[in-house]
Amino acid sequence: LSDLLKRSASFSLLASLFSLTALIGPPEPHPAIRLDVAFTIEEFSSHFLFGMAAVLPSLSPGLAAYGAIAAVTIDLDHLPVALGFQLIGRPAHSLTFLALSAAVMGIALRSGKHFDWPLGLATAAAVLSHISYDLYEASRLDFPLLMPIHPINLALPSGLWAPLQVAAISCSAAAGLPRWRQLEKALRRILRNGRTWRRREKAT
Ligand SMILES: [Zn+2]
Repeated sequence: LSDLLKRSASFSLLASLFSLTALIGPPEPHPAIRLDVAFTIEEFSSHFLFGMAAVLPSLSPGLAAYGAIAAVTIDLDHLPVALGFQLIGRPAHSLTFLALSAAVMGIALRSGKHFDWPLGLATAAAVLSHISYDLYEASRLDFPLLMPIHPINLALPSGLWAPLQVAAISCSAAAGLPRWRQLEKALRRILRNGRTWRRREKAT
């Protein structure tokens, strides 16, 4: 549980800090947002479930829980706009944040000497699944994909939600590769035992 807290808190902090890149970007007019409309339970739970579904193929309950939480807390990047600043919104809804957060999480929270690939890939999966659900819901189809290198909203087709979610699932399946191998070995052992058991049945 402490791992989950540490990971979720670190990712939330990253998303909040990354929202500061909006300061570099050009101004963008926003109507005054009503927080009770922007952040509904439905929105939270949808992102949570999309994130959970994307990270489940890692076969790690810990990573799946982290992925689900990260897919919700990435919206902390709405902060500057929510505070009334007329800046480019949602900087963490970008490929640059995807790469940066995956790299930072994998380096900063690794337990040994090596890059924590499962955590990095689960982080990438969470970000992809979040953008996927935003597209699916289609409240807005433009994202500052290359923030802050190219601080402009780029439009995406709403149908891209499915390939993005598949990409997220692939990332987390790659994160779970060692576990998938273990599962395969276990299944083979069960099949082999079943066969020898049947052969013994026939002999008697
Ligand atoms: Zn969003």
